[in-house]
Amino acid sequence: MPETPYFVSYPEAVKILESQPLSLPTEVVSLDDGFNRILSEDLKSKVDDPRFDNSSMDGFAFRHQDSLQPQTRLSIIQTVQAGTKQTSLPIKEGQAARIMTGAPIPEGADAILPIERCEVDWENGTVLLFEEGKKHFIRKQGENLGKGQVALSKGAHLNPSSIGLCATMGYPEIPVYQQATIGIISTGDELKLPGTPLNESEIYESNSFGLTGLVKWSGHRAKRYDSVVDSLDSLRIKLDKAAEECDLILTSGGVSMGDWDLVRKIMEEEGDIKFWRVKIRPGSPPLFGYWKGVPLFGLPGNPASSHVVFRMLVAPYLRASTGGGGIQERQVRVQLAESFKSDENFLVLRRIKIDTSGDQLLAYSTGYQGSGNLNSLVLADALTLLEPGHSGEKGTWCNALLL
Ligand code: AMP
Ligand code: MG
Repeated sequence: MPETPYFVSYPEAVKILESQPLSLPTEVVSLDDGFNRILSEDLKSKVDDPRFDNSSMDGFAFRHQDSLQPQTRLSIIQTVQAGTKQTSLPIKEGQAARIMTGAPIPEGADAILPIERCEVDWENGTVLLFEEGKKHFIRKQGENLGKGQVALSKGAHLNPSSIGLCATMGYPEIPVYQQATIGIISTGDELKLPGTPLNESEIYESNSFGLTGLVKWSGHRAKRYDSVVDSLDSLRIKLDKAAEECDLILTSGGVSMGDWDLVRKIMEEEGDIKFWRVKIRPGSPPLFGYWKGVPLFGLPGNPASSHVVFRMLVAPYLRASTGGGGIQERQVRVQLAESFKSDENFLVLRRIKIDTSGDQLLAYSTGYQGSGNLNSLVLADALTLLEPGHSGEKGTWCNALLL
């Protein structure tokens, strides 16, 4: 079959997508609403972290030089705990302070011994040190982060630890990119919602649910529409509605070369196609273009393919739409533990399980690689990135995209 001008290699497809990203405005949200969002500005710490020198152990604080002889006895002059407001007494020769984790180090003290390494005589107000005090149990002011230092940069994806860090740095609210509203439309006469009875030619519609998960995973807002039957008129009505309500439209199904592949057909006749078909396997039929000015991905109907194409095409497009930020894809280098079918012209994305038990990461197939086999994707840790022309032979190496 002759190649249409729209049939592009994977790098070409990504280049086209990255050259015309969405332009997402920014907003300020409370920290509680910050999870899974994408930072739109660098965040500088408003405070030193730690704020002051403090103890990382429950124990005693004293002058290190007083603990050089084992079995030293010191007199306990005070107790300091985290959050205590009154200024503590300075520690002088032969003295110790009972200190709790997080409490400020009293002046003069420069070592800590954890309580387990001490014996306390409360009656006489003394403590016997079993060993030398440890300087490294003092957490130094600013050792994690200095005031004014940028700890989270523009584009950072806010996971639980980074949300915690925003709070540590003193931010009650944070600047983030607005979420794109992404419309999801499945197409196909055979599709029925799970929970409804099926006649003999019908199947459960799954793509819109998987795609909704992917949209949320990438930090955006999904708007799922009821699936559309294979009719140009129904499709047109649904696309028009989605174009009014969404920043981006994802359709699934109907983008191959069949007579009933109406997404391709309507986009050819009434839309504006930037590419149709990409040299990746599985998932070669995707289409990208505009419907009434709104960007649209026509994803394949086969469930494993639609998922893979989201990761390979929609995810980079969304990253480009937030200045390269958001969830970053991670790759590892794997050795093929069995031979995989590769391709001279296509980037081949096999679903693999990675055995991490040995010295190198070994890639095994998750089983039958049919593009409708969602189970093989569920079992997978990663997708191979078998470059065009890779032999795919057992023992060779390739990069793999972690799922
Ligand atoms: P199509 O791309 O429309 O030819 O669909 C390819 C295959 O994927 C067919 O077997 C469809 O039944 C199936 N399929 C299409 N859309 C969905 C969907 N939303 N959920 C589950 N399977 C689908
Ligand atoms: Mg179909």
